[in-house]
Amino acid sequence: MPERTVDLRSDTVTRPSQPMRAAIAAAEVGDDVLGDDPTVIRLERTMADLLGKEAALYVPSGTMANLLALLSQTKPGDEVILDRNCHIFNYEAAGAAVIGGVQLHPLDGPGGFLPLGALEGAIRPENIHHPVTSLIAVENTHNRGAGRVYPYDQLEKVRAIAKKDGLRVHLDGARLANAVVASGIPFKKYGAIADSINICFSKGLGAPVGSILISDAATVKKARYWRKRLGGGMRQCGILAAACLYAMENNVERLALDHAKASRIAALVASKPALKLLFPVETNIVIFRVEDESIDFEGFTRALGEAGVLSLAFGNRSVRMVTHLDITDDDIDYVEKKLSRIC
Ligand SMILES: *Cc1c(COP(=O)(O)O)cnc(C)c1O
Repeated sequence: MPERTVDLRSDTVTRPSQPMRAAIAAAEVGDDVLGDDPTVIRLERTMADLLGKEAALYVPSGTMANLLALLSQTKPGDEVILDRNCHIFNYEAAGAAVIGGVQLHPLDGPGGFLPLGALEGAIRPENIHHPVTSLIAVENTHNRGAGRVYPYDQLEKVRAIAKKDGLRVHLDGARLANAVVASGIPFKKYGAIADSINICFSKGLGAPVGSILISDAATVKKARYWRKRLGGGMRQCGILAAACLYAMENNVERLALDHAKASRIAALVASKPALKLLFPVETNIVIFRVEDESIDFEGFTRALGEAGVLSLAFGNRSVRMVTHLDITDDDIDYVEKKLSRIC
């Protein structure tokens, strides 16, 4: 048995804290499908106001929030432009194609940021041969881009390109709170560059369940219909929403601590000639490659695991480590020690 286990597989592994559990226990609830759960109503109002939008919809997962965003803003035969490494294209089981009849059109953007020239070229002119381009999706922070923050001026340009052609913009902000804390740009400014936004409470914010789709009232009304159709209507889910409200009040600013811990791991990786950081570390995700081909990659990840340092293999001899609110400074000391030894 290792001395300790440091679980860096994802920021989804956090467990609700005692005060969060107290907030859950105290939650006032109703029947959210009938529209009268006061805690869910409060969460949806809070998040809509925070992003400067009319309405919001609490959903079980980020995957569902993204899917509802696409279903509510496209029709079958439409096309959505996004970046090849984004979550919607890679990790959502082709929901947009299966359920929405929507074609995804991936572009190659370094670090997960859409290449602006290619983006303009990818928007289809009206022609009976073409799918209808109707939406552009961006991701901030970018998961496969090692949690990098989407530069705000680029988001404004994406917004301007979309506007010119009458397209809508969806922001997959599963980790938007990390972007807000790292960039100092408030939620509302990110709201201004998108028509719809997904935010996950179950990642670095530390809530057990749930994401939210934030948009204009008409889009949220359609999304509410889709949520019911897909079986995502939940009844006394105020007990979950209470955890999310707690997270928004208590766990946003502290994300800076997670970012500092990820920086420590990144500095160590950068000091090892056998390893290479694939992207600069700006928030809570570190992705590095085992560059030294004389090191057996399987053996490397096995040794990490046996030492109690849990991470995810991320393809092409690379490893992802994610810091979160259940990781302490002592845990990072331990990771540094073990990683140094294995290298
Ligand atoms: C985790 C994640 C999602 C989906 O969240 P689930 O709640 O796991 O379905 C969507 N987008 C990004 C960028 C994510 O990291």
